[in-house]
Amino acid sequence: MRKVAVGAAAALVAGSMSFGASAQQQFITIGTGGVTGVYYPTGGAVCRLVNRDRAEHGYRCSAESTGGSVYNLNTIRAGELDFGVVQSDWQYHAYQGSSDNFESAGPNEDLRAVFSIHPEPFTLVVHPDSGIQSLEDLKGKRVNVGNPGSGQRGTMELLMGELGWTLDDFTVAAELAAAQMPAALCDGQIDAYVYVVGHPSANITEAVTTCGAQLIDVEHEVVDRLVEANPYYRVATIPAGTYEGQDGDVTTWGVGATLVTSASVPEDAVYAVVKAVFDNFEDFKGLHPAFAGLKEEEMISDGLSAPLHDGAKRYYEERGWM
Ligand code: GLU
Repeated sequence: MRKVAVGAAAALVAGSMSFGASAQQQFITIGTGGVTGVYYPTGGAVCRLVNRDRAEHGYRCSAESTGGSVYNLNTIRAGELDFGVVQSDWQYHAYQGSSDNFESAGPNEDLRAVFSIHPEPFTLVVHPDSGIQSLEDLKGKRVNVGNPGSGQRGTMELLMGELGWTLDDFTVAAELAAAQMPAALCDGQIDAYVYVVGHPSANITEAVTTCGAQLIDVEHEVVDRLVEANPYYRVATIPAGTYEGQDGDVTTWGVGATLVTSASVPEDAVYAVVKAVFDNFEDFKGLHPAFAGLKEEEMISDGLSAPLHDGAKRYYEERGWM
């Protein structure tokens, strides 16, 4: 956490130095994802509510666009981000030190959960001329599997491992960042992209309105097995009409977006964030259409596998929720 003395022109000083409470403003940063995804506006929504009460608690919050879940988890662990929005599957693996992404680093015992947010279906977006109608049809196509550091890249690789596929099963396995995917699809550079994201998202709206991109059902016995075996996966539906021209429900599987932090982030900072969201819950829900179905009781438990941060727990206990 960085602190800066008010009035000291751009003098950022190490978090270990302290100033009198009234003379300091403390900065908290939330790592998110690509700017047209849902994490980035989520970080913006949380920060907007935190900053509204800045005079009371002294925290100034900012949301940063990043490569996504796995990047956020690694950067929180390195102490360079205070909070991050991350997929529930990657929260689990980071805390456990499991999967290809986190095995070598080992368990991050300092990882702390804050709350969960919107559902994130595993979304397969295809060009209307690609002929792709199912997961199996991706073989032999040009597919964007996600930038390293993104949640979708990790989840796609894990799914491919279960399917017995490798990147060589695609004629091209592209690694474009999320914000670049719709243009690459519509310009004909790729046939499909995978995005684990809330709905509606500006990203998919862009692909649908630019070139009539379609969302494909992701149904497979391997997917059923994954959902059955892991608490952080579930069956997911993208309801008909979510995007222009989408006539039917899209059936797939998915995870949940969650907010995480580190045990080393002060209790007051986490408390300020949680209080800003839940004291102003109706305002929060109005800040993005993907938040419409959020329920407080689900947000404080669903998809959280790391222990709750003490600052979050304090607020939930005060509200009588636990
Ligand atoms: N789930 C994606 C990730 O973990 C990000 C989605 C978004 O930005 O809304 O990288």
